[in-house]
Amino acid sequence: MVRLRIRAEGVVQGVGFRPYVHNLALKYNLKGWVLNSPSGVLIEVEGEKAPFFLRELRDNPPPLAVLETLEVEELEPVGYAEFQIRSSRTEEEPITLIPPDVATCEDCLREMRDPSDRRYRYPFLNCTNCGPRFTIIESLPYDRARTSMKKFPMCPDCEREYHDIRDRRYHAQPVACPKCGPKLSLKEGERVLFEEEALKRAKVLLREGKTLAIKGLGGFHLACDATNEEAVIRLRERKGRPSKALAIMVPSLEVAQSLAWVSEEAQRELTGWRRPIVILPKREGTPLAPSLSADNNRIGIMLPYTPLHHLLLEEFQALVMTSANESGEPLVASNEEALSKLSAVADAFLWHDREIVQKLDDSVLGSYSRGIQMVRRARGYAPFPFKLWGNFPSILATGAEMKNTFSLTKRNYLFLSHHIGDLENWESYEHFLSSLEHLKALYQIEPEVVAYDLHPQYIVTQYALSLNVGMKIPVQHHHAHIASVLFEHRIFHPVIGVSCDGTGYGDDGAIWGMEFLIADLWSYKRFGHLDYLPLLGGEEAIRQPWRMAVSHLLNAEGGSPVLSLKIFPEIGEERMKVLEAQWRKGFGSPQTSSAGRLFDTISAILGFSREISYEGQAAIILEREAEKGRSVIPLNFPNKEEDRFLLDPAPMVRELAYRKLRGENPRDLALSFHEAFARGILEGCKWGRERYAISQVVLSGGVFQNLLLLARLLEMLEQEGFKVLLPRNLPVNDGAISVGQGAIACAKLEEKCA
Ligand code: ZN
Ligand code: ZN
Ligand code: FE
Repeated sequence: MVRLRIRAEGVVQGVGFRPYVHNLALKYNLKGWVLNSPSGVLIEVEGEKAPFFLRELRDNPPPLAVLETLEVEELEPVGYAEFQIRSSRTEEEPITLIPPDVATCEDCLREMRDPSDRRYRYPFLNCTNCGPRFTIIESLPYDRARTSMKKFPMCPDCEREYHDIRDRRYHAQPVACPKCGPKLSLKEGERVLFEEEALKRAKVLLREGKTLAIKGLGGFHLACDATNEEAVIRLRERKGRPSKALAIMVPSLEVAQSLAWVSEEAQRELTGWRRPIVILPKREGTPLAPSLSADNNRIGIMLPYTPLHHLLLEEFQALVMTSANESGEPLVASNEEALSKLSAVADAFLWHDREIVQKLDDSVLGSYSRGIQMVRRARGYAPFPFKLWGNFPSILATGAEMKNTFSLTKRNYLFLSHHIGDLENWESYEHFLSSLEHLKALYQIEPEVVAYDLHPQYIVTQYALSLNVGMKIPVQHHHAHIASVLFEHRIFHPVIGVSCDGTGYGDDGAIWGMEFLIADLWSYKRFGHLDYLPLLGGEEAIRQPWRMAVSHLLNAEGGSPVLSLKIFPEIGEERMKVLEAQWRKGFGSPQTSSAGRLFDTISAILGFSREISYEGQAAIILEREAEKGRSVIPLNFPNKEEDRFLLDPAPMVRELAYRKLRGENPRDLALSFHEAFARGILEGCKWGRERYAISQVVLSGGVFQNLLLLARLLEMLEQEGFKVLLPRNLPVNDGAISVGQGAIACAKLEEKCA
């Protein structure tokens, strides 16, 4: 006879953990109990086979559970009479976590393909281990009546399974079958088809090259046949998305491998239950439409994650599956909105009558030689929290303006919102507000503190300043970038933080973007940066990379416009005079140390992209071309001062311009620039290490989405003996800013209390 007391911590709530434990105890004929407590799930089992129970719990936990800690203690047997699921201890109400949405599991797929199963070919089947969660939950506690499944009363068969603890669907809130659940339909003009008929017709339309609006878990996708170039071009024209890459969905891992290079790590991500889009290096000579991602050598691929996707992909190699939205607006999620906003874009609607409560984009990861990078954190991840290092008052961190996310904290949890997007218009700001209200209500959080970005023009900063809370904590953008990584890796000592991005408001009022910091969670010191230049024409310079190139060229030539005119003859002397005057006086042109604008500059000088249609395009094309470069010319990117690390871009810009004019291969020049840029960072880190005796480096900021740069930089830093930390479960771009703000706010609050 053995009695074991077990404490399991990690992801153990909302994943069917207690019924699993109950069944396991029955299997080994054990007595005892299980209960949820604030410190995790507590279990006591008593009986001869208790060690077997423990082994199976450890080796084979429920599919969605993540066991971070498993403590075991052996005790004297007390002679329990039965096994019970006890109600939670209530000294401190545990925070009930909301599970993320989960891709259809293998068991459900088997049923979906079994002609004798009552859920045969049913597009909405799910179970305890899979299905919609966050996207359908209206409020807590999580049960069917508080989800958008409430309008579908269970039929007797579903009800029976739901109440049977031995069934895979025991207490699975969204369970449904063809008799009682949501129904698939296709609306094509005035014609409406249902179920199998709808699916058949949808496939015919897709085969004909038509564009479909398809309702998924977190919103609508626009879909077309990804091997049909004409269809892809038509979808682009209608959506007003001329060149930004489109993601595709393919039926299986094998097909993904035939279209792209899939590393082992990427394979795990592609096939895991979160089912993100993974950006992979493209193979040559595939049947994919060339215009899917013409700007880069990569393609975003995901595998089906709902039963409907599996059914649709039965007959296709690849479908475009891009978020359905009007340019700059959030995802379209309701049928009414789809009708009003997508009628001019889609030839037909393949949808259903289950409402989407929370709009949620697909998550995006990048795959490269050094592993996996998170680009966008949404479906499959949100709203699962990160643990803080202590208990704190509730904080709201409002994030940045582009790729916005916000964070809310409660006790020792930090809840990072899903990707909200670029807050460029009223619709996206509304999405921010409604998502914030939803998460606040779900977790019952009333923030006492707000943390926000210094940028006075960020709408989320203005929102933060308008709140009536006890304490407001401003956070510098690049400090937040570095702090997000420190928080993720639980680092509390100072590091060398290198933050490279497009725009971040500096504490001197300039637009920062290539920053060298000594930073911990509490404070930072800026010991270096790219030298300032005018952001010629302000925001216009972001959409028109040639403007920033002119600023750099004027700077490199001591104000002379000759070289600028040789590189951009179309500007003409008259207009150049105006630009020159603007440059000298700085009118409407704030000072900037932006790394993003330096990439734009080089892309424009080398003739790749003088104007862009989406954020980051010039740098993306520059990376594509550099990847095809063969030889590296050493370029000079020096530090121009003694007492701080001030990178001077002038010699490099001048040399690249002259070499371009001499007709040298622009791909080699692009590659040489990447090399010089990485070396500039390396030199900055060495400078910092010598003076501050710190050899741990944190890299963060949107520029590090450039994987060619990142891989080379990691190589250089490691060769020189630096220990490098990157974000892994947080985006490297502004999607992590709110986490950095939240972590810094916690640190400041701690300091205040100490
Ligand atoms: Zn399932
Ligand atoms: Zn049913
Ligand atoms: Fe940033």
